Amino acid sequence: MPLARARCAACSLPLGDPPHVEVLVRCGRCATSVPITLAADGQPVDFDVAFSAPRLVHWFSAARGAMASGTPGVAVGACRRCQTPVVVPPSQPVTLLCPHCREPRSGPAADMLLDLWPEPWCRIEGANLDIEYRLVLLDAARGVAVGCAACGAPTPPDHPSSTCSRCRAVTWVVRPDRSRVQLAVKVDGTREGRPFKALVPVLQGEMMLRQDTSFGLRAGSGSSVLGMTGLGCALALAVAIMCAAGIGFAIYFSK
Ligand SMILES: [Zn+2]
Ligand SMILES: [Zn+2]
Ligand SMILES: [Zn+2]
Repeated sequence: MPLARARCAACSLPLGDPPHVEVLVRCGRCATSVPITLAADGQPVDFDVAFSAPRLVHWFSAARGAMASGTPGVAVGACRRCQTPVVVPPSQPVTLLCPHCREPRSGPAADMLLDLWPEPWCRIEGANLDIEYRLVLLDAARGVAVGCAACGAPTPPDHPSSTCSRCRAVTWVVRPDRSRVQLAVKVDGTREGRPFKALVPVLQGEMMLRQDTSFGLRAGSGSSVLGMTGLGCALALAVAIMCAAGIGFAIYFSK
């Protein structure tokens, strides 16, 4: 969720006001330098969180990999070239200046920046389906855990180990404030007309989103499309939607 409108401790004016600063963050996948525009309240500006389903699947898949390797970091945007989330280490020192009086505020990235991992979402609508997907960050201290992001095995929040007993992936990441956190997928909406809520491991959320995407497209595609056949039609529609959104087809089907 976006931060509350934080105010400067020195001049009490809103920290989110322009001018904003631009920082370059290196994409961990393709090494492109990605310009990120930051407000002094630590919120990346110009990041549209309403994702297409294929783009959110890609985001979940990146989260699964980052979580499994124990390096989810603080997500501050997405690479314009390969769509991969760009992250900074949680302990990296960050200093931001008040846009009005230049008063500096400093701290680790985990405290200073809004973590974008849980921000992107998408809504899948079909005849019997109206569901929203997004990531959530679970804190072990709150006693909630869903399981290993990579394989779904249980990850008790009070267990001293932070490694999955089944696949050796990292299950809990320790933040600079010593909290232990885990990424999961939250699903919320209605299915077959009944309320549907679920908190699932990232791998499972990714699979559910893929399934609901094809189901939603087929079920909700309307009369002009009903005369055509199942999967080919859904794929054609998906390609049309991605092209309309200016997203490369190869990104999602090449891996
Ligand atoms: Zn100020
Ligand atoms: Zn990249
Ligand atoms: Zn595992």
